[in-house]
Amino acid sequence: MSIKITDECIGCSACETECPNNAIYESGVEWAMADGTSLKGTYVMMDGSAIEADQRNTPLSNDFYYIVPDKCTECQGFHEEPQCANVCPIDCCVTDEMYRETEAELLAKKEKLHV
Ligand code: SF4
Ligand code: SF4
Repeated sequence: MSIKITDECIGCSACETECPNNAIYESGVEWAMADGTSLKGTYVMMDGSAIEADQRNTPLSNDFYYIVPDKCTECQGFHEEPQCANVCPIDCCVTDEMYRETEAELLAKKEKLHV
C-alpha cells in the first residue's frame, strides 16, 4: 500500500527529505515522475495511463503536503519502515487503502523507478 498524508499535516517538511523516491511534495508544488528517480521518456502509471516522466503535473493537494502514490514504495528496497511515517511529529502519514500492493509489487515498482 502507498502511504498518504492526512489533512492534519502541519507542513513541517520533515518527511520530504526522507523519501528515497522523492514522492513527497509541498502543497501546491507540481510533481513529476522524473524527480528523484532515474526515469526518462514515457512511464506507464498504476492506472494504465502513460505520461512523460519529466512532465510537471497538477499538485495533488493545495492545502498540505502530499504523496504521489505511483512514486511511493513504502520505502521497500531502501528502508525497513516508511521513513515519512517515522519522522512525522503528528503521525499523519498513514496507509492509503486505495492502493493495495504486495511487498513484491512494491519492490518491482522500486526497480522501475531506479533503473
Ligand atoms: S513511505 Fe517511503 S517511499 Fe513512500 S512516501 Fe513515505 S518516505 Fe516516500
Ligand atoms: S512530517 Fe508530517 S506534519 Fe510534517 S510535512 Fe510531513 S506529513 Fe506534514
